[in-house]
Amino acid sequence: MLVNREVYCCMTSEVEYMISRIPFNDDNNPFEESDYDQMMVPYCSECESSYGFEELTVAELKDDAFATGEGLNEETDELEDGFLCPVCEHWHKTIAEARKCCGEDATVYRCQNCDKVISEDEHENLDTKPEEIYEWWAVTNWFGEKLKEQGCVVIEAWGKSYWGRCTTGQSISLDGCIVNIAKSMQILDGMENEWSA
Ligand SMILES: [Zn+2]
Ligand SMILES: [Zn+2]
Repeated sequence: MLVNREVYCCMTSEVEYMISRIPFNDDNNPFEESDYDQMMVPYCSECESSYGFEELTVAELKDDAFATGEGLNEETDELEDGFLCPVCEHWHKTIAEARKCCGEDATVYRCQNCDKVISEDEHENLDTKPEEIYEWWAVTNWFGEKLKEQGCVVIEAWGKSYWGRCTTGQSISLDGCIVNIAKSMQILDGMENEWSA
């Protein structure tokens, strides 16, 4: 199905060699210095995972997603435990107040690994680190775009697309990004038989 059609073959040794040659500026190397940037991925400051963030609104946050912190209760004039607005990190006595602080439709992001919630601003300014890539696969250009949308490392060089795979030792069709793409194409439910036929 999807994988058979869109993923050509494993190119790990070839791509690793081309990457290793980037500093030498070989004329015949499809990879170039700017490709290093493509291999950098944003990571969560809390758990250091680059698994990715899910976009949602304050209204969609469950109560336990609100961070607690100590702040000054202006009514009692005492330091008390309370809840932080996930957008501006202002202290509030109750979760209900923290929700209202910057508006329930404000956008926030949740780490898909540790569930930490961060503001849109923090999400745009996340630190980056080199992705841990275990395998390189040649994929169709169309599939390369789909993988990029999933936050995967994809390098286009000389009209070809190479996907830096962050897993190994399992079937490609089980990778989270592949499952997501298949889901978004509604292949997994019912249509799967059609595609594999
Ligand atoms: Zn706020
Ligand atoms: Zn995290």
